[in-house]
Amino acid sequence: MIVAMQEKASEDEIDTVITAMEEAGVHVHRTTGEFQTILAGVGPTGALDPAKFEMLPGVEHVHRISAPYKLAGRAWRPEGTTIEFRNGEKIGGQKVAVIAGPCAIENREQIFSIAACVQAAGGGFLRGGAFKPRSSPYSFQGLGIPGLEMMREAADAHGLAVVSEVMEIAQIEPMLPLVDCFQVGARNMQNFNLLRELGQVRKPVLLKRGIAATVEELLLSSEYILSGGNYEVILCERGIRTYETATRNTMDIAAIPVLKKLSHLPVTGDPSHGTGRRDMVPAMAKAAVAAGADAVLMEIHPNADKAVSDAAQTLYFDQFEKLVAELRVLAGAVGRTL
Ligand code: PEP
Ligand code: MN
Repeated sequence: MIVAMQEKASEDEIDTVITAMEEAGVHVHRTTGEFQTILAGVGPTGALDPAKFEMLPGVEHVHRISAPYKLAGRAWRPEGTTIEFRNGEKIGGQKVAVIAGPCAIENREQIFSIAACVQAAGGGFLRGGAFKPRSSPYSFQGLGIPGLEMMREAADAHGLAVVSEVMEIAQIEPMLPLVDCFQVGARNMQNFNLLRELGQVRKPVLLKRGIAATVEELLLSSEYILSGGNYEVILCERGIRTYETATRNTMDIAAIPVLKKLSHLPVTGDPSHGTGRRDMVPAMAKAAVAAGADAVLMEIHPNADKAVSDAAQTLYFDQFEKLVAELRVLAGAVGRTL
């Protein structure tokens, strides 16, 4: 159940409504927007009478949510969520964010040269895996925390925020001081214990869509994080598995406007994993921006063909620079900046 307060509702009126909701046995999540406060009641709301709450002073309207997710739904934050990072960059605002970096952190020289490239192109976020979920146990598994320390240094030297994948609960604590945003990979989208634990953290989470997950399942997974009180979740379309084999995955561009409509959470497009092919990345990056994505995630490497993982989909620096310049023009055409 969502209770939208009137613009001029007082704190006392808001408190009275929260108390009435709690007395009815529901857990209340409050969001204070620029103009109005919205209260989301989560729990056994089925038996509640919305009319009873509509009568309370300061209430504008009350509605039941039929979608199985409540906190991820648009109604809770109609104006949309903007997430701010300590380097001053935002995801979810007017500016389209650029998140770029290698698939895996390989060595100092590699990550420092990539950080310099991302900054020079005007990007605000450095990505790179320290813990890699590889299809084969014999493939390179990542450098772990020492790799992340290198990436932190490189990001700080270039004013960038750090995004890196967390694969299990035990990695959260050592990663916390080193990352600005936890990435949950496609393979872990339904690792509910990990999601619950990330709900307790007060750092943003970039949640990737699972390879066989529906939009609703993605939103329900985000709900696990939000219901813990961590309201800073970024959704990511990274391609799903279909019968098509011409690309590594099928990038579901339509999922971007669908997610923007159903949810207030920012949405990222990942054309690298979405296509698996370097030559297809620019077209799908542009498609993501045109479709309303709040961020674009791209894999880049100084020696892309020799990257230890995901080489085929990784852009060379010059390709990345050219693409970001084109995305900037495109963002302007759809009322955004980049
Ligand atoms: C990655 O970002 O490098 C990655 C492993 O992504 P995904 O979980 O989407 O496969
Ligand atoms: Mn990758």
